[in-house]
Amino acid sequence: MELQTFRHPSFAGTVMFLVRNHELKWKNHNRFSLNTKLLGDGRFCKHSISGRKCFSKNIRSSVTCSYSTEKNDTLPSVKQLSDARVIYAVAPALGHTKESHPESSARVPAIVTALEEMELTSKFRGSEILELQNFKLASIDDIASVHAKAYVSGLEKAMDRASKQGLIVIDGSGPTYATATTFHESLVAAGAGLALVDSVVAASNNRLDPPMGFALIRPPGHHAIPKGPMGFCVFGNVAIAARHAQRLHGLKRVFIIDFDVHHGNGTNDAFLDDPDIFFLSTHQDGSYPGTGKIDEIGHGAGEGATLNLPLPGGSGDTAMRTVFDEVIVPCAQRFKPDIFLVSAGYDGHVLDPLASLQFTTGTYYMLASNIKQLAEDLCGGRCVFFLEGGYNLDSLSYSVADSFRAFLGEPSLAPKFDDPAILYEEPLTRLKQAIQRVKHIHSL
Ligand SMILES: [Zn+2]
Repeated sequence: MELQTFRHPSFAGTVMFLVRNHELKWKNHNRFSLNTKLLGDGRFCKHSISGRKCFSKNIRSSVTCSYSTEKNDTLPSVKQLSDARVIYAVAPALGHTKESHPESSARVPAIVTALEEMELTSKFRGSEILELQNFKLASIDDIASVHAKAYVSGLEKAMDRASKQGLIVIDGSGPTYATATTFHESLVAAGAGLALVDSVVAASNNRLDPPMGFALIRPPGHHAIPKGPMGFCVFGNVAIAARHAQRLHGLKRVFIIDFDVHHGNGTNDAFLDDPDIFFLSTHQDGSYPGTGKIDEIGHGAGEGATLNLPLPGGSGDTAMRTVFDEVIVPCAQRFKPDIFLVSAGYDGHVLDPLASLQFTTGTYYMLASNIKQLAEDLCGGRCVFFLEGGYNLDSLSYSVADSFRAFLGEPSLAPKFDDPAILYEEPLTRLKQAIQRVKHIHSL
């Protein structure tokens, strides 16, 4: 067991120490405990240590620690992790659905069918594509790292009412429905994201090019605010995964890219004052829920660690490529993240019924490919995508499948799916003005 010195931010000037590769959890100002830590070979360190803080001297002598390891059966084996180039998990929430609602239980199965049609499953690709099986549900503590406990317990209690009534609207702002399975299936969705983070991080301990992760999950999460559900979203899957990456893996600096057509207000709100989690959202100007103005940049210690870039309606492929090069890349390079998490919404597609951007399958391929490259350049390739919106089942499923091809380094099949004849001229002058403004605000 190896020790290193460590400074707790609340005690500037006081020397602390930490077991290398473990996360020190501060219970209060005087006591600490050491969390379990996922080891590179897929085992968990099970034992924890605890002790008291001492000023001005090393506290090693006051700590007793022994630890053993135990296989975590829900993670892939070392061999699987070393072979895989894409790892995905499926949580379709088949019971959480409402007739003729766009956020329906048909979405994830449509993606899985497209993956099969395009021969992007392990049946066709062997060990290079891996589907995570038997992952654990997120725990209440995981959810409560982002959401108020009262909301979590209230939702669980509401399941009785949903069982009796079939379908209810859950308290909170925005139209979010729930059925009898919503609570459980939302824990499954969040758990899939956590298991993918665990797998990608474990692989990255042994490889410089770990697999890309993709959580094919619903309900989506980026509108869910700390106090409750919102906009079809129940739990903030990406936000919960960000806290998990910090707490369990010691990945302090998390960079979240949200390219859903709507502003990820829930994620935005969860980390407004947190300097270690950068939230960057592109979204259609004026779309639901109306937040995410260009001058919303976080506050307190987190000022500057939130970047919102509203795109003029009609923005498309050229716009997003320009934004990627001129805003996303320099922002991420400056932040120096330990991991990327991506709120991958496919409702910016020109065929999507809920908004009016003009992204194409090719745009999503470009985003997947460029984000993968950025993760390799900046943080050992650690990156997990999380499904958010996307309501035209064809454009959703082909865009996700083409993102898988980008992860594999294979050419895009977008020309098969995209019809340039339906596109109109992008508002590039207004876009450039927005980019200049955001660059000025963030000193990029
Ligand atoms: Zn959306």
